[in-house]
Order: sequence, then C-alpha cells, then structure tokens
Amino acid sequence: MRIAFYSTKPYDKIWFEPLGKEYGFDIHFLDMPCNEETITLANNHDAVCVFVNDTITAFMIEQLYDMGVKVLLLRSAGFNHVDIKAAEGKVIVLRVPSYSPEAVAEHAVALLQTVNRFTHRAYIRTRDFNMSINGLMGRDLHHKTAGIIGTGKIGQAMIKILKGFQMRILAYDPYPDKNLEIEYVSIEELVKKSDVISLHCPLTEKTKHLINEESVSIMKEDVILINTSRGELIETEALLKGLLSEKIGGVGLDVYEEEEGIFYEDKSNEIMKDSNLARLATLPNALITSHMGFFTKEAMRAIAMVTLENAYAVENNLPLKNQVTLKQIMN
Ligand code: NAD
Repeated sequence: MRIAFYSTKPYDKIWFEPLGKEYGFDIHFLDMPCNEETITLANNHDAVCVFVNDTITAFMIEQLYDMGVKVLLLRSAGFNHVDIKAAEGKVIVLRVPSYSPEAVAEHAVALLQTVNRFTHRAYIRTRDFNMSINGLMGRDLHHKTAGIIGTGKIGQAMIKILKGFQMRILAYDPYPDKNLEIEYVSIEELVKKSDVISLHCPLTEKTKHLINEESVSIMKEDVILINTSRGELIETEALLKGLLSEKIGGVGLDVYEEEEGIFYEDKSNEIMKDSNLARLATLPNALITSHMGFFTKEAMRAIAMVTLENAYAVENNLPLKNQVTLKQIMN
C-alpha cells in the first residue's frame, strides 16, 4: 500500500517509519498539511493519512475518489475534521478510537494545576531570582466540585484522577454510564455548581459553542475552565468576556477554535493575526498548549500501531473495526 502521509512532524517518523517498513507499506512523508491545494499530491497513492487539523472537505473527497485513493487514515480519535457524509461510498475512513485516554486526562490535570497554582509563572520568576509570590495565590481543589462534560474514555480517566484530589464530581452526558459511581445532573446544574469545568465531549453540531455567553453568565464566580477536547466547544468571544470581567478565574486550553494553521507551527517570528488568541496569551490566568494532550510516548506508539493496523485490514479485506460511517454518526 502506498500512503501519502500529510502534516508530518519529526516525532511521527519515529514510530511510523519503522512500523511502516515492517508492514511493507510505502509511506510518502509530506511536511505540508492536507488541504484543497495539496490534495493532488495524493495522486498515485492508495491511502492518505492525516492529523486533526487537516480538514477534509467534500471537494477533497471527490478529488481522492477521482484519483483512485480508497482509504483515509486518521491519526486521531476525533473525526469532526472530515466530511463523513461526502466520504460515504467513496473513501473508507478509519480512525484510532482510543490510544491513551489517560494521556489526555493527565494533560487536562496538568493544565488545571498550572492555571490554579501559577507554576508557569513561578518558573519564569524563579529563573530570574524573582522570589516574590505576589499574584500567585491559588485555591485548594480538595472538596471542591468538578463538572465533567462527557463521561467517555477521557472523561472517566479525568474523574478517577480528580477523585484522588477528593473533589466532588458532577457529570453531564446525554448517554450516562450507569456503571459509574458519579452524580449525573443537567448541563445547567453542572455549569452553575462547578468550581472546575472540564470538557470531554466530541465536537458535533449540538456541542459547538456549548460554552457561550449564556453558560458563562450562570457559572460560579472564579470558575476554572479546562478544554482538551475541541476548540469549537467554546465560543472564544464569550470566554474572553468572562475572563476580562473576572467571572472566569482561569482557563486551560489545549485546543482553540481557530487553531488550524497555527497550532503545531512555529509562528514566533510572525505577527499573530488572530487577535483573540493574542489577547488570551496576554492573560496571566490563561494557559494555552498546542493540542498536545495526546502527546506521550505510549499514545504515539499506539496511534502508529492502530493507524497501520487499519491500513493492513483494508489491504487484506479484514473486518474494519475502526471505520467511521455515516450510520454511526447519525446514531
Ligand atoms: P468518547 O467517545 O469515549 O467519549 C465522548 C463522550 O461524550 C461520550 O460518553 C458521549 O456520550 C459524550 N457526549 C456526546 N455528546 C455529548 C454532549 N452533547 N454533551 C456531553 N457529552 C456528550 O471520546 P473520548 O476518547 O473520551 O474523547 C473525547 C474527546 O477528546 C474527543 O472527541 C476529542 O475531541 C478529544 N481528544 C483530544 C485529544 C487531545 O490531544 N487534546 C486527544 C484525543 C481526543
């Protein structure tokens, strides 16, 4: 199988190159993202492999179909960046449903602890021997309430960790897991009562801008908001208003509404044109990481293994357990 591998970073090659050789795949590593301009590079390939910020539009699906590319391999669990409806019957879409939910949950907790206790600012200060702790006062998490939106694999891993802090857990999920010993409440109640809100649901038409001006208005004063899920779950303007009015006490973002084309790239020599991102970056209680919740050795190894297993399954007509179909997303 000949695979056009878009958005390649040095860390992708560490796992994909040797494993690809073992499978006998011919992987063509491309630095550029997959978009309407670069899609033609997939010509003469059997499969295309993309990451989270490679948006695959209906137009691109048509191009793939016309070029005879039969498979779209996602190196991610989320598939909101692919027009699944357009792909139906034309290109087989396969994802990596689970690689390390703990990796993402642990990163969410790292964001929470950093935003809460300002360790990012303390690090900068003490390197310069500024040993003042003025402005770095946090809050105990012990016995506070954490609201978890989405109790799937990552949400559950997050709950386990937060229970270790002896936090009270409130959860919202349209499909509650009855085996979990947690209190499910309505989303309004969760938003109203939580000291920490952490987002772990997928991005869908229903969840886009789940956090908006209205939800911010009912949040507790000084709430900390964590998003390691997808940027568009939060309406950035509403978040900024909440932070500037000091209603929101802190935010940790591993994802951002307009991250495509910015995250994963070195933009340090350019003028940041996204004024909301630039504003967020100036706030002492806002911490942004570049969509790296998944980024552990264990998760990267698992992503490479499952992505190539998916390719192998197609090549050998095996059952496609990780296929994303229109039927699934309609349910
Ligand atoms: P999952 O499918 O196991 O769980 C998602 C949960 O969200 C399910 O229980 C589902 O019922 C629930 N849900 C669906 N609609 C909802 C709604 N309207 N409100 C509340 N909950 C809703 O997925 P997961 O593996 O736990 O991943 C969650 C999300 O994390 C993914 O969709 C992806 O966007 C994100 N993610 C981020 C990274 C990263 O590096 N930052 C890595 C992997 C996944």
